[in-house]
Amino acid sequence: MTDCIFCKIISGEIPADKLFENDYVIAINDINPKAKVHALVIPKVHIDSLNELEDEKLMSEILKATKEVAKIKGVKSYRLHVNVGKEEGQIVFHLHFHVLSNTIK
Ligand code: AMP
Repeated sequence: MTDCIFCKIISGEIPADKLFENDYVIAINDINPKAKVHALVIPKVHIDSLNELEDEKLMSEILKATKEVAKIKGVKSYRLHVNVGKEEGQIVFHLHFHVLSNTIK
């Protein structure tokens, strides 16, 4: 049993507003959006934070997925944001990239 909320979303134990999924990542809408578009790209393997990410294939898949999410959301202009460590605002200790945009039509 894991207490990780994103692991529970990945396993289907709790629902989420899913945008995209492949063998490496899942992308969901953030439950508490801070922009008109606010999605999260989350690796399927549990990695606490960016500091623990070493798999180069996974790094590339995460970045590819952020571009896919922007396409799905219909935005060409967006920001990627990653909080690393609680002192810099990381709340969920399962790596995730925020995809944020306010330039949706
Ligand atoms: P961070 O501060 O980088 O750890 O961001 C965690 C993000 O996860 C926040 O933006 C939350 O709103 C989001 N979040 C937490 N629980 C859920 C959930 N069940 N579904 C979607 N987003 C979530």
